[in-house]
Amino acid sequence: MTAPLIVAVDDDPALLAAVDRELRTRYTPDYRVRTLGSTAEATRTLEELARTGEEVALVLAAEQLDGAPGADFLGEVARWFPQAQRALLIAWAGVGVPEVGDALFEAIARGRIDHYVIRPAPPPDEQFHQALSSFLLAWAETRRRAPHTIEVVGETWSGRAYRLREVLGRCAMPHRFCLADSDEGRAILAGTGPRRFPLLVMPNGAVMEDPTDTDIARSAGRELDPSGERFDLVIVGCGPAGLSAGVYGASEGLRTVVIDSGSIGGQATSSSSIRNYLGFPRGVTGAELARRAHQQAWVFGARFAFMQQVTHLAREDGEIVVDLHTGGVVRARAVVLATGASYRRLGIEPLEALNGAGVFYGAASSEAPLVAGEEVFVVGGANSAGQAAIHLAGHAKRVTLVVRAATLEAGMSHYLVHQIEATPNIEVRTSTEVVDGGGDGWLDHLVLRHREDGALETVGAYALFLMIGAQPHTAWLPPTFQRDASGFVLTGAELDAAAIASLGRAPLPLETSVPGVLAAGDVRSGSVKRVASAVGEGSVAIQFVHRLFADERRGLRPTGLPSPRAGVP
Ligand SMILES: Cc1cc2nc3c(=O)[nH]c(=O)nc-3n(C[C@H](O)[C@H](O)[C@H](O)COP(=O)(O)OP(=O)(O)OC[C@H]3O[C@@H](n4cnc5c(N)ncnc54)[C@H](O)[C@@H]3O)c2cc1C
Repeated sequence: MTAPLIVAVDDDPALLAAVDRELRTRYTPDYRVRTLGSTAEATRTLEELARTGEEVALVLAAEQLDGAPGADFLGEVARWFPQAQRALLIAWAGVGVPEVGDALFEAIARGRIDHYVIRPAPPPDEQFHQALSSFLLAWAETRRRAPHTIEVVGETWSGRAYRLREVLGRCAMPHRFCLADSDEGRAILAGTGPRRFPLLVMPNGAVMEDPTDTDIARSAGRELDPSGERFDLVIVGCGPAGLSAGVYGASEGLRTVVIDSGSIGGQATSSSSIRNYLGFPRGVTGAELARRAHQQAWVFGARFAFMQQVTHLAREDGEIVVDLHTGGVVRARAVVLATGASYRRLGIEPLEALNGAGVFYGAASSEAPLVAGEEVFVVGGANSAGQAAIHLAGHAKRVTLVVRAATLEAGMSHYLVHQIEATPNIEVRTSTEVVDGGGDGWLDHLVLRHREDGALETVGAYALFLMIGAQPHTAWLPPTFQRDASGFVLTGAELDAAAIASLGRAPLPLETSVPGVLAAGDVRSGSVKRVASAVGEGSVAIQFVHRLFADERRGLRPTGLPSPRAGVP
């Protein structure tokens, strides 16, 4: 296999030579390097590379190229290499200049570039290479070539193989799926002999035949059974809020365990690029953010229990009893509830039956390579639907965004609306809803209804991505937890008079109606539903845990509302 290419384009020979030197000294032989001195030469070269089926991982271009913005050229690159990362080279002196920032924002919003990088300083410039490595990693992830990728080999796209990919996705474990009778599948199977499908080939070469979810978590060192143990702090949910609570709890000396029915990252793992999270000016994938946070909490001493669903929480004898679906019980002095939310179901039977077989709930980033060259529909009018449409447009022939509201602006950030309008293969259908659909083993059509005149239309569809609002993961909580009409957990001043009276003091801002249990992130009524706010609440919750423990030390023990579990044998 020939090495993929890194291409750099600059009409200033001295600056191009500096970039050329940096690229060649660091990236060959894993990548081939081509540096080109004009837009015309670069256009010819990239056209030829696309024609001959070469792989281009990264294209860098000067801010100005032959008198035009380099971003215009990079925008064109997507026509030939939709998955190549595209970055502008900007001068060090340009950082902080408002006009440069505005141009970068506009170029990113319009999808012309993915990133920017400051031109290399005299070697060694590790900052330059750190940025380039992250661009190359992002490209490798779109090609399912991230380091330590798990190979999933199945006989069909759907069924158990789909479920395994879902579990791996929820574990933020990079994986790649191929059919057993494809060239890739045959090559993998040649080394494993006859096996039962679906098959997982782990990065260390171990082969697992149709493993259980727990087998998968255990194989990557990601499962701990905490039953029978006592912790200072149990965190339920390992999304951004739970991870943040884990980092702060463990780093501040609390004996902490984070329990999740899946694995790390929560909803954030389905986000292909989080651009608004502090400290990541070029964006970060939800999975990468989760991996980093998990390692951070782990090194601080937090323990993690994955594939373990919490089924009940109650206050008993001055501590909180946490029941697991395994029948195990964990005890804690305090609990942070960070179970988040997930997308609402469409509720159309023929489409529910095709879940995983062309119909996907919120899995746009992991399924995107499946839809190359196909007709794809995304349903939803909020930012997550907009992001999914943009991401899928990099792979699909056309993406139709189906929105019930009369305008996109009604539910989506301005910058995303802007980016969608500028993406030629995204079509937006407002005042429209999906009312039916079907397919024989895989989705092949949808029925759309125009909400104003009721007109029905049947359209061919290869995949449907549903992003239609969040439902909190709270159905399992006992009635002692006060919730709003949609099921989100009430905290602090939102609690009713009875709950506040039972505390015998003013509730802490993130405290639920069960004393000693705090709620953080999307699960909380009134929360902002963003990664940053979930992370913020997770960290703040730990301050309140310390306050609860201080009260305990002073002998102020809350009693709480009566537990319906009391008296249950
Ligand atoms: C596609 C997509 C794109 C997004 N893009 C952005 C973006 O660009 N910027 C941004 O700021 N936000 C974005 N968001 C929103 C952001 O991901 C969420 O606000 C954030 O993940 C909320 O974090 P959380 O920890 O509160 O909950 P979640 O991320 O929902 O995590 C909750 C965790 O709790 C676990 N859990 C639930 N019930 C139980 C139980 N009973 N027992 C054990 N574990 C349980 C779940 O398995 C899950 O891992 C996006 C969301 C999606 C879906």
